Amino acid sequence: MKAVVYKGPYEVAVEDVEDPKIQDPTDVIVRITSTAICGSDLHMYEGRTDAEPGISFGHENMGIVEEVGSGVTTVSKGDRVVMPFNVACGFCDNCRAGKSAFCLTVNDPGMAGGAYGYVGMGPYAGGQAEMLRVPFADYNCVQLPKGNEHEKDFAMLADIFPTGYHATELAGVKPGETVAVYGAGPVGQMAAYSALLKGASRVFVVDNKSDRLDIAKNMGAEPINFDDGDPAQQIHDKVQAYGVDRGIDAVGYQATVSSGEEQPAIVLNQLVDTVRHTGGLGIVGLYLPSDPGAPNEHAAKGELLFRIGRFFEKGQFMGTGQADAKQYAHKLRDLIIAGRAEPNFVVSQELPLADAPDAYRRFDNRESGYTKVLLQPGR
Ligand code: NAD
Ligand code: ZN
Repeated sequence: MKAVVYKGPYEVAVEDVEDPKIQDPTDVIVRITSTAICGSDLHMYEGRTDAEPGISFGHENMGIVEEVGSGVTTVSKGDRVVMPFNVACGFCDNCRAGKSAFCLTVNDPGMAGGAYGYVGMGPYAGGQAEMLRVPFADYNCVQLPKGNEHEKDFAMLADIFPTGYHATELAGVKPGETVAVYGAGPVGQMAAYSALLKGASRVFVVDNKSDRLDIAKNMGAEPINFDDGDPAQQIHDKVQAYGVDRGIDAVGYQATVSSGEEQPAIVLNQLVDTVRHTGGLGIVGLYLPSDPGAPNEHAAKGELLFRIGRFFEKGQFMGTGQADAKQYAHKLRDLIIAGRAEPNFVVSQELPLADAPDAYRRFDNRESGYTKVLLQPGR
């Protein structure tokens, strides 16, 4: 079958790889209908991780079940399913507590939690391919209505919709509250959208990409361009209070300042400034334990300058980590089916798998109009 294979920094290729096989009785094989490129793939694409050339990418996958292992009881051939990106067992302490991103069964040494096609997150191949092996299929497949309705909406259940929602949970967003989301990439858009779904009264979205700020505005958020001045100050001026109730980091360690250079941890510090005393911070933007390409030796070890004194003084709290996508995927699916959520507005392209190299290059350049790319192997 064909798959998107990492060749080295800034290069992927669509190549023939071995078809996936049932390895354990609890596996299924899914024929992929849609698989998205994620900002998280770019950490590997840019060569900032230990990802070895030859691995296949893709953790945002959905499709039709093609083959079913003998130990699978709730998934059948022909089922339409989406796989939230955490590969998890469903029965360890963390999975039972809903913390599927930190599964204790499925892990690499020193890590908890697995993912499809991701370095350090287990031996699982990626789904930017014609087919995908899904372990512990009863737990890892989320059933979808048959047919092809809502394909773009359901594809968002594999990662960014539950991840955005998780960010609002980490920050503690409640109805009527004010929220600031840093980053208008797909994850930030879904965090802002989730805050609005939860009944936030005002949601600010910070970025400097005008096409992305426009999407946020159309969704009902208030755009803040950080090229126009300190975003925390801009937001304070608008709420005329001590700050917003909740803040979300959907940028991560790759944050740029207005000059264009990279300044790790700037968003964390800006969030502390933006959010009121005792408010909550939800951090889903990724921070790496090491980043060999970082601009200084501390950042290279994942040690960033976080102003903890100000954070402590304000009595704020913070939640971090990979999102427990499985915890929310079923209910968010039901909102889509009920017509109460339409996350497809972030999808900017639906392309055949063969277009992956070009799509990676454009998405990595944050090219205008390249917000969220869906690869569709059947096209
Ligand atoms: P993205 O790179 O497309 O979006 C990031 C956005 O942040 C860009 O639009 C960029 O212009 C903007 N930005 C850069 N510097 C900024 C600054 N100083 N202030 C405000 N905005 C700034 O990526 P994405 O797909 O939206 O993902 C965002 C982050 O979330 C990535 O780090 C990704 O790895 C992470 N992620 C985490 C999880 C999780 O489970 N925790 C899941 C998916 C993605
Ligand atoms: Zn993702």
